[in-house]
Amino acid sequence: MTVKARFAPSPTGFLHVGNARTAIITWLFTRSQNGHFLLRIDDTDRERSKDEYEQAIIDGLTWLGLDWDEKANQKDRMARYTEIIEKLKVDGRLYACYETPEELGLKRKTQLSRGIPPTYDRAGLSLSKDDIAKYEAEGRKPHWRFKLNHAPIEWNDLVRGSVAFKGEDLSDPVVLREDGTPLYHLCSVIDDIDFEITHVVRGEDHVSNTATHVQMFEAISGKAPDFAHLSLISDAEGGKLSKRLGSLSVKDIQEQDGLEAMSVVSLMARLGTSDPIESFTNIQSLVDSFDFSKFSRSTPKFDPDELIRLNAKILHETSFDTVKERLAAMGLNEMDESFWNAVRPNLEKLEDIKNWWDMTNESLATVIEDEDKDFIAQAATLLPDAPWDETTWKAWVDKIKEGTDRKGKNLFMPLRKALTGMEHGPELNNLLPLLGPEKTKKRLAA
Ligand code: GLU
Repeated sequence: MTVKARFAPSPTGFLHVGNARTAIITWLFTRSQNGHFLLRIDDTDRERSKDEYEQAIIDGLTWLGLDWDEKANQKDRMARYTEIIEKLKVDGRLYACYETPEELGLKRKTQLSRGIPPTYDRAGLSLSKDDIAKYEAEGRKPHWRFKLNHAPIEWNDLVRGSVAFKGEDLSDPVVLREDGTPLYHLCSVIDDIDFEITHVVRGEDHVSNTATHVQMFEAISGKAPDFAHLSLISDAEGGKLSKRLGSLSVKDIQEQDGLEAMSVVSLMARLGTSDPIESFTNIQSLVDSFDFSKFSRSTPKFDPDELIRLNAKILHETSFDTVKERLAAMGLNEMDESFWNAVRPNLEKLEDIKNWWDMTNESLATVIEDEDKDFIAQAATLLPDAPWDETTWKAWVDKIKEGTDRKGKNLFMPLRKALTGMEHGPELNNLLPLLGPEKTKKRLAA
């Protein structure tokens, strides 16, 4: 049987880290099974759904390196939802209710104050013809609920193991609004059936929805797919993701923070699993090691600093070929492979490379302290002849040690400051050939 899974975002906002994690994990699972990946846009809510969000989600997924075999929009499938809804009405699985939101709120409050679980009391089921006529005469329109069987609901979750609910503990979910638009629950189930989804992967905030969905699957097609409910990520202290972190969008990570897509993928693929969090430059290794049995039920902590650490490691392993178009787009089209290789171990974010480029190419404010002036002047006379390579630095230092009375930090630091203007930075054996004799002499004479 071919595995088919889907990622089903609602285009009511940007792709944020939590959703991106679901997308990455669903995608890795599907690819690890040589399966089929569906991108389903849950846009039944026409007021809140926006084309630009759909596009942003597509851009975000593409940037992350995820692809899909098929894409569907719920808004294009309304006729199909209506067909199933009418059938379920005939089967007696949907029933009309006339409460206003205020009336429902009041019922809830009363139940809570009496210590009763706030499930819907099924008043809609016992309405007489007269009651209905009265409501209709008032201009009320019904919303429709799915009638749950009061029976055990069980499934074996790929992450949570055995999960059990009782039908009687759950409210009959509303599946059709007053205005005739179908709601997420039923649409999602109909799609999962029609697109032959074998595995539904989503956040654990959907677990009790799933219990109701299981009965909808049974009512429509007789069989529910497999489920994997991922623990929701928390902040570094273990609390619920703050508004700022929770809504941290993939677009911001890309555009404002300037991070590499693979740092997000590397982190999100491994967070909350028994595998170590490591930097990957290639998504295939993550596909190969994917297994739901490695996922824990406990809440994984999301620490944005970890993204930065992974980002640095990934850049240190990134080849010039992979990055050269992006460098050109940054206006660094004259940069070559040897420059990239020399400088990349110092990068935390790609944009840092601009500083290195400027350090070697622009006129730079370097530092020569008064007490080092004579030493620097003397060191300049000892520079080896061109051509320069990675061994030049050592050859130069050997000559300086012979020709002056300096050694250790006393020798290196004045040279570093004279050449780079900074106390920390690239290995000087790498920097020297990048600078070349002309610029080096100029800086030492400054
Ligand atoms: N659109 C729903 C959401 O974003 C999809 C949930 C599901 O995977 O069924 O929460």
